[in-house]
Amino acid sequence: MSAVSVPPPKRLQKPLVVPHRHMFGPGPSNVPPRILEAGANPVIGHMHPEIFEIMNDIKSGIQYLFQTQNNMTLAVSGTGHTAMECAIFNTVEPGDSVLTAVNGIWGERAAEMAERIGGSWRLSDHCLILSQALLKYRPALFFLAHGESSTGVLHPLDGIGQLCHKYNCLFLVDSVASLGGAPLYMDKQGIDILYTGSQKVLNAPPGTAPISFSERACQKIFNRKSKPVSFFLDLSWLANYWGCDGKASRTYHHTGPVTAFYSLRESLAVLVEEGLENSWDRHQKVAEYFHRGLESMGLKLFVKDIKARLPTVTTIVAPRGYNWKDITSYIMKTHNLEISGGLGPSVGLVLRVGLMGRNSSKHSADMVLAALKDALQHCHKSKV
Ligand code: PMP
Repeated sequence: MSAVSVPPPKRLQKPLVVPHRHMFGPGPSNVPPRILEAGANPVIGHMHPEIFEIMNDIKSGIQYLFQTQNNMTLAVSGTGHTAMECAIFNTVEPGDSVLTAVNGIWGERAAEMAERIGGSWRLSDHCLILSQALLKYRPALFFLAHGESSTGVLHPLDGIGQLCHKYNCLFLVDSVASLGGAPLYMDKQGIDILYTGSQKVLNAPPGTAPISFSERACQKIFNRKSKPVSFFLDLSWLANYWGCDGKASRTYHHTGPVTAFYSLRESLAVLVEEGLENSWDRHQKVAEYFHRGLESMGLKLFVKDIKARLPTVTTIVAPRGYNWKDITSYIMKTHNLEISGGLGPSVGLVLRVGLMGRNSSKHSADMVLAALKDALQHCHKSKV
């Protein structure tokens, strides 16, 4: 008689099957073979000297991508949410307040994280203007999503950092959906904490999140009265693991995801080869081409102001008379292509298409346009 009461599952005795799919939703994007192959390298120790070299390469790549000289630049082990929590949990102490700009789901999420530690205030379009809110609430941190992937809005950044600093407030920017696809200059724009994700414009698998902290942010973080609520995301530990604290030796904190580091390094190398400005330019041109194609099919863009359209993730007004789920399912089934519906406040209102990194090409845009045209002809349309 067997000693184990739970038998080996039959499902794991079948081979792994993963379909090839066109990943044109708001992320993850397709991972090009070069980046996938980098991830297939042998696993070595997370404290081996070769890994530290790879981590140093990643750090330089992030400094270039973010346009920053910040020494406190690294990649957290986890997705965009991990970087969000890393930024907020390290900066905010009990008693501090946080102001978040809410122009979609990400401001809401940041506010919800901040509420777990300190006071949180939301700045929506109908609320006070930023300078009044900074004066009224005296926040320690102001959060803004540069690219709101739920609504497809690109928020301008110029002047905000300087305004925050006037009120002794740190400026935190989420660029998960925009970085590499739209111009951003961390140092010049006075951004104190900036993070992104690996799975969008960078075209790496999800699971690592580049982040950087200004000198001003470090001053606040390393002079806290209490320890951050998260041990895993405590910047003093992460700074040591990433060789950012000036100490001669590194101490074990967690087992860094070495395979994910290889992929991230390769994705940064691809971006370095193309050049940041060329990447911004390509995303902008492809987005404009795609938007013209949508409009010529009679579809409407959700973001009316052309300058406020995110070049990476496009929101299309859900076509009248259709159930948006019928459209996304039809396109997945018939074209093997992912586009998605809305998220948070945009659920039911929009379809979302992401053309990011290598997927930002006229060829991919044409594929989505053809798939949408086909779906509108074949999906059920109500008469009313
Ligand atoms: N911020 C923005 C703007 C995003 O688009 C996303 C992912 N959709 C996130 C944060 C969270 O990233 P993740 O899903 O990798 O945790």
